[in-house]
Amino acid sequence: MKYAKNILETIGNTPLVQLNSVTKEVDALVLAKVETFNPGNSIKDRMALKMIEDAEADGRLQPGGTIIEGTSGNTGMGLALAAIVKGYKCIFVISDKQSKEKMDILRAVGAEVIVCPTNVEPEDPRSYYSVSKRLGAETPNSWYVNQYDNPSNALTHYEQTGPEIWEQTDGKITHLVVGVGTGGTISGTAKYLKEQNPNIKIWGIDTYGSVFKKYHETGIFDENEVYPYITEGIGEDILPKNVDFSLIDGFTKVTDKDAAVYTRKIAKEEGIFVGNSAGSAIKGLLQLKENFTKEDVVVVVFHDHGSRYVGKMFNDDWMRDRGFLEEDIKTAAGLIKN
Ligand code: PMP
Repeated sequence: MKYAKNILETIGNTPLVQLNSVTKEVDALVLAKVETFNPGNSIKDRMALKMIEDAEADGRLQPGGTIIEGTSGNTGMGLALAAIVKGYKCIFVISDKQSKEKMDILRAVGAEVIVCPTNVEPEDPRSYYSVSKRLGAETPNSWYVNQYDNPSNALTHYEQTGPEIWEQTDGKITHLVVGVGTGGTISGTAKYLKEQNPNIKIWGIDTYGSVFKKYHETGIFDENEVYPYITEGIGEDILPKNVDFSLIDGFTKVTDKDAAVYTRKIAKEEGIFVGNSAGSAIKGLLQLKENFTKEDVVVVVFHDHGSRYVGKMFNDDWMRDRGFLEEDIKTAAGLIKN
């Protein structure tokens, strides 16, 4: 018989799928690492399990303990699955811009969810950084995960995601395109791939309202770069320790509208139902297309599943309210012509 002893054994070894439509204007072979095949439907299952295992190993997490984290949802899902199998409690602090689906999903897997305002400074006591840190200090037998600075996060991708991509492409990968949030995915995967072949180019996808691109280019943390944005999962108003800027060759920024429009295109044209950071990654890849030739093998990471965004970019009213619907733009152009 072939079976997994529990759900955690099904994490990883996700497929690499050729994109045939959304990137057809790019000369290279473009392959998507589709992380929705993980049991919690996102790449974060990988690092959630490893962060827990590493904390168990050195005693930071004790039997029956409470796991506390500030999470935009996907890390929470991964932590919750591992907590169920291993017998821990979870408290997650989430910002109010995250989709309701994400909050409901976390509650469905037994976590307590605390919602904090998005548009306050990280140092503000109401911010989700501050609240999660405070809960970590106040709750007995608890462990504050801190995925931003926890080295097990990037290490996961050094041990798993990088080797998987290297093997799946027979070492032929030439470029990696990845949305950057905590930086764990890009830094760990890039470190492994660059060790195999230092010529592999690593591109980070950033969003307007985030500090990464400017910081990478100038070394300056520019507060003027920080303003509210809609895209979930990528971009930051802090510099997480997990972003290793020395491994990243360049960043490109993608607008909220483009992220939403391209997320819908991926679903409609490829039949791959993924979240909005995948739309950002594809639009970013198209913005970078001058860098690719037809011999190149470009791997792009699709971090999470589209089901978490059915009330957002997959909802026409939500799109129309923000002026994001392509049809409306065509109508406006038509009206101008008339
Ligand atoms: N996309 C989504 C949907 C995410 O949840 C995350 C995690 N914040 C990312 C991209 C970025 O991944 P990382 O944190 O490893 O940089």
